[in-house]
Amino acid sequence: MLEKRDFYIGGEWTAPAAGSDFEVIDPSTEDAFAVISLGGQADTDRAVAAARDAFPGWMETPPADRIAVLERLYDVYKSRMDEMAAVISREMGAPIDMAKAQQAPAGLGHIKNFIRAARDFAFERPLGPHAPDDRILMEPVGVCGLITPWNWPMNQVTLKVIAAMAAGCTMVLKPSEIAPLSSALFAEMVDAAGFPPGVFNLVNGDGPGVGTQLSAHPDVDMISFTGSTRAGIAISKTAADTLKRVHLELGGKGANLVFADADEKAVKRGTLHCFNNTGQSCNAPTRMLVEASAYEQAVETARAVAEKMAVGPADAEGRHMGPVVSQAQFDKVQDLIQKGIDEGARLVAGGPGRPEGFNRGWFVRPTVFADVTNDMTIAREEIFGPVLSIMPFETEEEAIAIANDTPYGLTNYVQSADAARRNRVARRLRSGMVEMNGQPRGAGSPFGGMKASGNGREGGVWGIEDFLEVKAVSGWGGA
Ligand code: NAD
Repeated sequence: MLEKRDFYIGGEWTAPAAGSDFEVIDPSTEDAFAVISLGGQADTDRAVAAARDAFPGWMETPPADRIAVLERLYDVYKSRMDEMAAVISREMGAPIDMAKAQQAPAGLGHIKNFIRAARDFAFERPLGPHAPDDRILMEPVGVCGLITPWNWPMNQVTLKVIAAMAAGCTMVLKPSEIAPLSSALFAEMVDAAGFPPGVFNLVNGDGPGVGTQLSAHPDVDMISFTGSTRAGIAISKTAADTLKRVHLELGGKGANLVFADADEKAVKRGTLHCFNNTGQSCNAPTRMLVEASAYEQAVETARAVAEKMAVGPADAEGRHMGPVVSQAQFDKVQDLIQKGIDEGARLVAGGPGRPEGFNRGWFVRPTVFADVTNDMTIAREEIFGPVLSIMPFETEEEAIAIANDTPYGLTNYVQSADAARRNRVARRLRSGMVEMNGQPRGAGSPFGGMKASGNGREGGVWGIEDFLEVKAVSGWGGA
């Protein structure tokens, strides 16, 4: 058992004032391996007060000086990347090689991208040549409550914390209680980088506790949240009484439109992408729509990919798939696989129960359904497990209609050799992101969604803007 972690408040490690113990479970073994305290109102109040005290000084720190501290944080993070990968792997079940290649470096990449974006960012700008005495000042929103999930822990923490720091905000981070240890390590890094006390504070807790207390707190100016649509709605309602700004990054049900002229790796790539991180990504391409003439071949390819996919514990090296994060997620995924069968989808690979050879750990069989219709539960609900739904389409028009027929709007994908068609389809998809022909979005590209997928944009210039107020000043001297 790892030692119980203190909170990081006002630049010091400090014992929780209130709250109960919570066990952190290794999803590969179902054994508890660490304990944290879930904070209470007194802890939240102390952390918010520390952030409030630090705000005027950090806001007035010139952007170049803020960036200098972020550069030190970059170096510290880089030097402890292997440790970060090991912690993430243990707490949320990502296989160690995947944690080293994707989970931990995602955090480093965001630190780098925000430093680059902040260097070029015009925190003060003229309104335009027609109004030479007008100035636009981009000012930090204030004290921010940052609430993050467990699936890409450092990706999501750095997307919020680094952007808020660069903008001049101060903050209280409440990471997911299911995967809190990566954030404790991150707080050690922040401490080593030498931020002024109170700029960054960490309190552990759950949604009904610290999460709700931050959302309701009169001294918190903004909540930035990533997680379920359910919690996003609850936070928005709680935050309404204090009129704080609420930035939401919620779930998704991405469509992957595979046209008959797609490259020959498109279906394999899409299936592997759906299973990456054991399907626990909000931008996973979980609905594969395939043009009718290529449909049966696509189903066969996806079946072969799923059947070849190895499953194994997080601490084993290699390119296998790990467990899902928790008993609750395991039960939810099992229920949805059963619903797929009950509602008449064709089970092509995988299915209910653990993969052969496992009787412990939250391991799920890589599962493919064909002949899914868009009204089935597995096509509508975010499963957050390794479950792919394939459905045929006849025309481009129909494919776009199916893709858009969802409450979500995070990421959609298009596979086609026809550039004009790709661009046409990209314009009509109602989602915050469209990725085509397997090309990842560039560094600093904004991440975020429409509709029930949320309202914020994280990463790069847009990520910093989310933490800024726009102040318009006239009569500016010395123009
Ligand atoms: P969740 O939304 O319950 O938790 C995410 C974070 O919000 C955690 O830190 C949690 O403590 C906090 N939280 C929960 N309820 C809250 C409330 N009422 N007020 C304030 N904070 C609250 O997500 P989860 O339980 O970790 O996962 C459940 C589902 O959420 C998943 O099945 C998946 O569909 C979705 N999810 C989406 C993403 C994403 O990136 N979009 C990430 C994780 C989970």
